[in-house]
Amino acid sequence: MKLNRRQLLQASLTAGAGSLFFSQSSKGQSEPKPVRPKGIVFMVSDGMSQGVLPLTEAFSQQIRGTGTAWWQLLQEPNAVLGLMDTPSSNSLVTDSAAASTSWSAGKRVPNGQICVDEKGASLESIGETLAKEKVRLGLVTTARVTHATPAGFATNSPNRDDEDFIAPQFINRAEIVLGGGSAHFDPKRRRDKRDIFGEYRKAGYEVLGNRDEFLKAGNGKLLGTFWKGHLPYTIDQKHSKSLQKTVPTLAEMTTVALERFLQGDQPFLLQVEGARIDHAAHANDIGGILHDQLAFDDTVAKVLAMVGDRDDILVVMTSDHGNSNPSLNGVGARYAQTNKHFARIAGLKSSHENLISKWKKNQGGLQKWQAFVMENYGFKPSAEEAEAVLDSIAGKEIVEWSHQLDNPQGLMGQMVGNYTSTGWTGISHTADPTQLTSVGPGASEFAGLVRNDSVREKLLNLLLG
Ligand SMILES: [Zn+2]
Repeated sequence: MKLNRRQLLQASLTAGAGSLFFSQSSKGQSEPKPVRPKGIVFMVSDGMSQGVLPLTEAFSQQIRGTGTAWWQLLQEPNAVLGLMDTPSSNSLVTDSAAASTSWSAGKRVPNGQICVDEKGASLESIGETLAKEKVRLGLVTTARVTHATPAGFATNSPNRDDEDFIAPQFINRAEIVLGGGSAHFDPKRRRDKRDIFGEYRKAGYEVLGNRDEFLKAGNGKLLGTFWKGHLPYTIDQKHSKSLQKTVPTLAEMTTVALERFLQGDQPFLLQVEGARIDHAAHANDIGGILHDQLAFDDTVAKVLAMVGDRDDILVVMTSDHGNSNPSLNGVGARYAQTNKHFARIAGLKSSHENLISKWKKNQGGLQKWQAFVMENYGFKPSAEEAEAVLDSIAGKEIVEWSHQLDNPQGLMGQMVGNYTSTGWTGISHTADPTQLTSVGPGASEFAGLVRNDSVREKLLNLLLG
């Protein structure tokens, strides 16, 4: 059944009023049956501006002939729709550390701080609270696991960049920790040479370093770090057999974590982060962002399928902030060329990061760069475009009025934008509220405009009562 917008809204509001603490019986009478979820899957597409969802839907339709799970959910009457607000305590524009802290500790803090307030005092993270209550916590991400969003759910650090300090803190707070960032656990790479992998093993964790080990993992606690930094971009993984062999996908990691939690009797919170959507936005990388959002959406589809026949699991999807607000502009007479331009995104075979890193290894002149872009992106940039990007990569001054876009990321985004009709407002986070979509028991808690610092209380009320 397709509903129009008004009907959708009404369905959401009705669900909101009726199912806060009691479910409706089939006869429509309220029964005193609590609908608190046994488990919550809190899914974060980091740095996902609102335009990313419709662009990903169009991209999926184009390259796969089918739509995305999140977009489909927006059309379901049982989905509760909302907006997440995003400020931190010192800025209208948050970073991921303050955003994750607001969700986890229930307090807005200055950017850069993880569960530490403006006076330097530690705040109790939701992971710390849940550990006391014997609620299982899982953290799955495509970033370094010590990065701001997963770190905010279980650790404290006055400085988000001190990831060596964050690394040991998941012990006995998070039962499953999967993502990148092995460097911060590895005695050979840590500044203090401390063997954090060894400390996790001593605390009963199985330590995993690649996809093969991950696929054979036992049933106990898990620490899996599958890359020394962030996991590679999905667009690069798609074009590399060796990356596919060694690095599990977000959907694979999430499936393993959720299967374990669903099989057990204890309540749980599983945070899932698609982290590289944010990084691709910082890089003004349209191919990078759409492929990573598709990978996130594959994970949404998997989670919804896994919990589909149960009525005790809440799934919440949102983002911590916008980033650079990518959009598709109409092009040509009556915008008739727009779709043709958009279709060129499918021809991009590399992230900007990977492309520039490969270029720096070989280098060459203007024509070589034009041919290199043609080979990897499917279009040949004009001499002016090619020169501007190369000058910017070389650190030379270029004529560019926007200080946000006066850099290699901004120039690459504009060069690709000239052929795909996509544009970016800058290379940094934005103040916009983000999409919030929830389904399952307690979803109505996340209707309408939700303050980021109210999420902790909602999650705890639902899980602990
Ligand atoms: Zn960011």
